[in-house]
Amino acid sequence: MRVVHLFTRDLRIQDNEALTVAAEHELGFAFCLPSDFATLLPIRSNSLIASLEALQEDLPSQLAVFDNIDELVSALVEAEVDAVFATRNFDTNAMLWQANLAEALYGAGIALKLVGSNYAVEPGTVRKDDGNPLRVYTPFYRRWSQLPIPAPFKVDLASARCFQLKGAAIPSAYNIAVKIRAGERFALRTLERFMVSRATSYDSLRDRSDLGGTSHLSHALAHGEIHPRTILYRLGSSAGEDVFRKEIAWREFYADVLFHNPHTLTEYFDVKYAKLRYDDPAEKHELLAAWIEGKTGFPMVDAAMRQLKSTGWMHNRARMIVASFLVKDLHFEWQIGARHFEEHLTDYDPASNSHGWQWTAGCGTDASPFFRVFNPITQGEKFDPHGDYVRRYIPELAHIPGKAVHQPWLLVDGLAHGYPTPIVDHATERLEALARLKEISS
Ligand SMILES: Cc1cc2nc3c(=O)[nH]c(=O)nc-3n(C[C@H](O)[C@H](O)[C@H](O)COP(=O)(O)OP(=O)(O)OC[C@H]3O[C@@H](n4cnc5c(N)ncnc54)[C@H](O)[C@@H]3O)c2cc1C
Repeated sequence: MRVVHLFTRDLRIQDNEALTVAAEHELGFAFCLPSDFATLLPIRSNSLIASLEALQEDLPSQLAVFDNIDELVSALVEAEVDAVFATRNFDTNAMLWQANLAEALYGAGIALKLVGSNYAVEPGTVRKDDGNPLRVYTPFYRRWSQLPIPAPFKVDLASARCFQLKGAAIPSAYNIAVKIRAGERFALRTLERFMVSRATSYDSLRDRSDLGGTSHLSHALAHGEIHPRTILYRLGSSAGEDVFRKEIAWREFYADVLFHNPHTLTEYFDVKYAKLRYDDPAEKHELLAAWIEGKTGFPMVDAAMRQLKSTGWMHNRARMIVASFLVKDLHFEWQIGARHFEEHLTDYDPASNSHGWQWTAGCGTDASPFFRVFNPITQGEKFDPHGDYVRRYIPELAHIPGKAVHQPWLLVDGLAHGYPTPIVDHATERLEALARLKEISS
């Protein structure tokens, strides 16, 4: 049988169940660019291109790239392909895309075989005793952690019979300052580095935005350069590794929630919060622009937003702080922030992003309650206690030593290099947010 492995968000060779099964046949390799590829910001398209280029280096024949399903199907028909293998995706848009692909392939007489997933436990598997899906993380985790996880799948493509599918080459990357390191081999090295130097202290260091205490595996997981099974298989039983396992489970939980509630990609999980009074970004565009540019006058918020803009990644604690600030200090809807993250994050993941935002905005699963409003100053002092994170990203504050950098307006020369005064008064906006909550709570 002549088959093609269609890569999607599984840009790796090892521990790829679908590819392992496909490799039993005469095999070609394909990738379809996302439909919004032409409009992606350079940092997002470069992150995909970097993953594809790294994948290509490890493939025994050329990866054929297509702009859309129609082009792909024509090439498959011409090459007399019998079946397409792909990893099953579970997020809202990917499921729609898979349905369109299935229809087009069916019309051409080609089978579609969706095998495995990019999760240790496939979304839809963990259920309550009554068969309903879980809406709260802790009971999800309890059940999830009891399920058997198979050993990573191994494949030897050197001994596979390969053919060359006719398609385009990988598009060229933009020439931008941020150089993205990607690929399966880099992901495995990143995991090893983390295991050797940080895994056992992960529980105590993961919240510190100034330290590299986290794994930085999110790009690799989002592009499927590594399977979570490979990560879980490598973990031991220290307190740090246990907390890390729980973070991997958050990714699995959000994927499960989005699978059962596909509308929550862009809509409220807790619909009550759709009725909250939000501000119109068109009327308050200067506030939104200040948040986007990292010029709110709150150093922790601004360092985080500048980290995002300059690197395509942001520390998890910082993601929560900027999300809380956008929703509860500036009173904008979470979707505005989620869209901005989607445009800039090289680890963009539909489920983790939409539900990370909703968790912080207070309208998601086990949401941090709406009335819990992060104080951007005390959060900064706690999670960047020496001010190093702020100084790294905000040159206008580089002259201020220590944690005083979190309140530069208190210093005589604190704002001497052009850093702005706060665009809002946090205490006032916190009360405003709570007042708006009261309007929908009666
Ligand atoms: C508002 C908001 C938006 C977010 N958007 C995304 C996104 O688009 N893509 C994304 O991968 N993560 C997202 N996260 C989750 C988290 O911030 C990142 O996964 C993490 O910062 C990535 O860095 P790391 O790989 O070093 O994480 P580590 O701390 O080393 O964690 C290891 C892995 O566990 C998973 N993970 C960790 N924390 C979470 C979490 N809270 N929710 C879901 N998965 C988690 C990730 O896959 C991560 O790579 C978001 C969080 C918030 C609060």
